[in-house]
Amino acid sequence: MSLLQIRNISKAFGGVKAVQNVSFSLQAGELLALIGPNGAGKSTTFNMVGGQLAPDNGAVLLNGQSITGLPPRTIWRCGVGRTFQIAQTFASLTVAENVQMALLSADRKIFSWWPRAANHRRTEALALLEQVGMTPQADRPCSALAYGDVKRVELAMALAPAPQLLLMDEPTAGMAPGERVALMQLARRIARERQMGVLFTEHSMDVVFGQADRVAVLVRGQLLAEGTPQQIRADERVQQAYLGT
Ligand code: ADP
Ligand code: MG
Repeated sequence: MSLLQIRNISKAFGGVKAVQNVSFSLQAGELLALIGPNGAGKSTTFNMVGGQLAPDNGAVLLNGQSITGLPPRTIWRCGVGRTFQIAQTFASLTVAENVQMALLSADRKIFSWWPRAANHRRTEALALLEQVGMTPQADRPCSALAYGDVKRVELAMALAPAPQLLLMDEPTAGMAPGERVALMQLARRIARERQMGVLFTEHSMDVVFGQADRVAVLVRGQLLAEGTPQQIRADERVQQAYLGT
C-alpha cells in the first residue's frame, strides 16, 4: 500500500483551475519531487495534502485511509509534517531550544511545567540535531546561524513529531546551489533511515534529477508526466512544456 495516494484531486479559485484531476502516489522512504513552472499548482496540491485547503473533488489517502479535507491539525496528528518556505525558527532562542519547543509541541505538553519539560527534551533535541549535523551549534542562538544552517534546524524541528510523510514546499529557496544539494541529500538519507516519505518542490534541476526517486510534473494545474528522473528527463512533452529544451 502507498504511504500517500492522491486520487483525482482538483481545486479552483473562482475561475482559475489551479489543480485539475491530479493523481500520484508516494511510497515510504521515497523522495518525490513535484515540479512545474510558477503557478502550476504545486503549493495548492501541497495545501490539499496538508489540510490547509480542501479539494473540490477527489481524495487524499494516507496508508489507505482518507484524510481528504480534514483540518491541518488532524492531518498533522495523522503523521503529515511540513516545512515552510520562510524559516519558522525563533531567532532569539538557541538551536537546541527551538528543537525542544518543536518536541514539546509535538507532545502537546507545551502547557506542562515549562522549565522541567524543556530540560527533559534536551536529550531528544540533541539526537535530532545530530541527525542533521547541527550538534556543534546546539547552544548558539538561531539568529547567529547561516541561512543554510537555519534550514537544517527547521528540518530537525519538522522531524520532532516523527512524521511518516514530510511536505517540503521549496525547501531550498534562497540557498546557494551547493547548499541546496546538501540539504536534500540530508533529507534523502533521513527519509531512508526512517522510512519516511518526502514530497518536495524544487526549481533546481540539479537537485531534482540528483536527489528525487521519482518526479511528477505539473503544468497549468495538470499532471503532465510522472516517473523516474531518467524518464522525466527523456520525456519530450516535459522538455517542450517545461524544461524549454
Ligand atoms: P505554484 O506553487 O506551482 O507556483 P500555486 O499552487 O501557488 O502554484 O498556484 C496555482 C494557481 O492558483 C495560480 O494561478 C495562482 O495564482 C492560483 N492561486 C493559488 N492560491 C490562490 C488563492 N488562495 N486564491 C486565488 N488564486 C490562487
Ligand atoms: Mg508554490
